[in-house]
Amino acid sequence: MSVVFRVEAPYRGHYELHRLSFGSGSPSVAIVAGLHGNELNGIHAVNMLASALRVQPPRGTVHLFPLVNTYGASEGRKRWPFDDLDINHAFPGDPEGPAVARIARALLDATEADVCVDVHSGAPHVRELPQVRAPMSGAELELARAMGLPVVWRRPGDRLAATGLVGAWRQAGRKALHVIGGRGITLDTGHSATLARGLNRLLAHLDMVPPVGASETVADVTRADVESHRSPFGGFFVPEVRVGDAVAAGHLLGHLHAPIGGERLGEVRAGRAGIVMTVRAYPMVHAQELLARVAGTG
Ligand SMILES: [Zn+2]
Repeated sequence: MSVVFRVEAPYRGHYELHRLSFGSGSPSVAIVAGLHGNELNGIHAVNMLASALRVQPPRGTVHLFPLVNTYGASEGRKRWPFDDLDINHAFPGDPEGPAVARIARALLDATEADVCVDVHSGAPHVRELPQVRAPMSGAELELARAMGLPVVWRRPGDRLAATGLVGAWRQAGRKALHVIGGRGITLDTGHSATLARGLNRLLAHLDMVPPVGASETVADVTRADVESHRSPFGGFFVPEVRVGDAVAAGHLLGHLHAPIGGERLGEVRAGRAGIVMTVRAYPMVHAQELLARVAGTG
């Protein structure tokens, strides 16, 4: 493990950006997690991958950054704690700027690789089935599909991350993938393992590690295939499904209750057959907030 960058803290320990590197030469892959400090599944997944690579070094080079926002992680926070700034909003960074801008620049420089992956979780209030968001076509889509994660979500240019670390990688001419699994604040070991298998399949696709298990993709969709259910009114959402469930048209996704008294205010049903890819985990909901998404398979 090497320290690639350091920020002096006001007291005690300094912030350090850690990198674990395996192998040498090309091709090269860089994998980042914990850019948002409270998104824990990616941290665990990348550490699982590190364990495997320690036993069997790759052909080519793999750089792992399991936890970028260490201070945020220690405090259960997504952002950099001192000034509450989002490191992912600081790209391409600035070596003369505030801490988040300096970290962003150091990370962008340290992830010089052919293929780059940024692993996130959903927001703390929603749970996401492990998924990769990719362009509508091209080499990045091929790499995304090779991960074999449960969902491949193809998005047009204006819906792809044009900013953030993934956007900065693309502008630097690197192939970049945006991966999401589970929810913030929560470690889900099942989702972490799924993410780790996806990262392994990506390396296997690049012929860097031996072949691994079969694809787990159950939905390969565009926005037109994804049905988003938003709350028609404020209330308390009680889900009746979990992410990964296969549902038919009309399947009950959840109920809306009155938060005080518990009267049933309404129910939410799938409009089409598909896989549940997102479920609201925090029940208090305002009107128009996301309750669930179904990735159509029918
Ligand atoms: Zn994130």
